Amino acid sequence: MQCIVFFGIQGSGKGTQAELLSHSLNFQHINTGDLFRDQVSRGTELGLRVREIIGRGELVPDELVFQIVDSVLEPERKGIVFDGFPRTLAQAEFLVRHYEVLRVFFLQLEEADAINRISARRVCGDCGTNYNLKSNRPQRPDLCDKCGGALIIRKDDRPEAISKRFAEFYSQTLALKDFFGEQGLLTEINAGNSIDAIAGEIANTIGNLNS
Ligand code: AMP
Repeated sequence: MQCIVFFGIQGSGKGTQAELLSHSLNFQHINTGDLFRDQVSRGTELGLRVREIIGRGELVPDELVFQIVDSVLEPERKGIVFDGFPRTLAQAEFLVRHYEVLRVFFLQLEEADAINRISARRVCGDCGTNYNLKSNRPQRPDLCDKCGGALIIRKDDRPEAISKRFAEFYSQTLALKDFFGEQGLLTEINAGNSIDAIAGEIANTIGNLNS
């Protein structure tokens, strides 16, 4: 199965770009963070195992990550856009063993800009729809456009968890730059640009792969 990977610090906009690209290529979009949060909110066995880990902003053990990715795979799809996976070298090695990696996009953003963006993030406590008070505002400041539920700050977007998530990014995930760079698969993108400009750069890169 072919795949494209997005990685970057929390707040770099990888989710937005992964979503756009998966639509335009008609690939499955797999966001491991959303998958784990869904398990937690449904109180499944896996959700109960990872709830505390996620709340602290730590990484979930690799085996559980492989398990959750495996459980949502749609084998009839043309390909997958991975968003938030891989995040460790062991996960990256697993990925290249099991998938044909077409391209890996690293969305580069300064930490101060990332904190700015994350502090504006809100999620509906009832239906899980995501908002950003700067770039994707709800019509009413504290309520969900879709279901009217109250908008809250995700537990793992609070300052203590965010600093842990950044630390995990620097100590574990940043090494993927060298790993994929050595394989000639890496494209680095300035994530400080607008959503449209970044999407255009990504589309050009993908277009060049096919030509
Ligand atoms: P995210 O919203 O993508 O930052 O993911 C939220 C949380 O889910 C992370 O802080 C981790 O606890 C967990 N998680 C998501 N993807 C992975 C992964 N590939 N490896 C380990 N933990 C993950």
